[in-house]
Amino acid sequence: MGNQIKLGVIGDPIDHSMSPLIHSQFGEATGLEIDFRSFHVVERDLDKFIESFFADGGYGLNVTLPHKLNCIRSADILSSEVELLGAANTLSKNSNNQIIASSTDGIGLIRDCSDKNIEISNKRILILGAGGASQSIIPAIARMNPTKLMIDNRSPDKIEHLLKKYSSLGLQTLQHNNEPIDLLINATSAALSGSFNWNIQNQLNEETIFYDLSYGKASANFFSWASQFSKNRFDGTGMLIAQAAFSFQLWFDTFPDTSNIKLSNADD
Ligand code: NDP
Repeated sequence: MGNQIKLGVIGDPIDHSMSPLIHSQFGEATGLEIDFRSFHVVERDLDKFIESFFADGGYGLNVTLPHKLNCIRSADILSSEVELLGAANTLSKNSNNQIIASSTDGIGLIRDCSDKNIEISNKRILILGAGGASQSIIPAIARMNPTKLMIDNRSPDKIEHLLKKYSSLGLQTLQHNNEPIDLLINATSAALSGSFNWNIQNQLNEETIFYDLSYGKASANFFSWASQFSKNRFDGTGMLIAQAAFSFQLWFDTFPDTSNIKLSNADD
């Protein structure tokens, strides 16, 4: 036990995290002896926790809400993606004991889309939501050269903020017209509070692909709304597993097999 590689995920709350379940299966599949734990860390303890974790031999951390932004202050080096996003979900240590902050959410989504044959290049993409998840996937989607990359959000001020933040990426506001949307990505938490609805019926049809970043039971309301248009519906389980796999790769330089991961509790 003493020789196990110490890894973990920090957040507040943290009980719902699937990361220990996913990473322990990566460990088994790759033969690496890892000890991956959830740590409930509140904001005031964040910097101290990260410092102590790595000083005590910790090897890597995943970071979830609400620490994705503030964990960056503990890092010595930011990946170029983190520089762009202003947020990270993975901390690792290099041979000089420097802490590196990276983000794997965007590449996780792209990987999952590729696994599912969901095309992004030359397609019209609409992202609903302008919170942390939306912000973390926009640059990765933009790099795939969609025909159009549009965003819509309940609060318009947040759209303005994102258009400025990503002004070089070709991000646009949703244009209400009859142009069909090829891929609609739900990055809101709207469905958690009841039925889901978005006023874009004219632009959706049976070819539209609906992708929810939420997963398990949390996707039920979004899927129920999407089912009136199309059978092409996916939840965020694949992205969740893929972003974890990219974190694992950052720590161990090996991309684990993601095809047989069991998430028996993936219903929150
Ligand atoms: P945030 O709290 O940062 O953002 C929430 C977004 O949802 C905002 O755009 C907010 O709009 C919108 N929203 C909330 N309630 C409603 C409503 N009733 N009607 C319309 N819009 C609403 O959350 P995150 O961005 O961190 O997470 C969003 C979702 O993505 C979550 O379900 C999360 O679980 C999932 N996720 C999945 C990942 C994966 O790997 N699969 C990774 C990260 C997140 P407004 O600005 O108006 O408040």
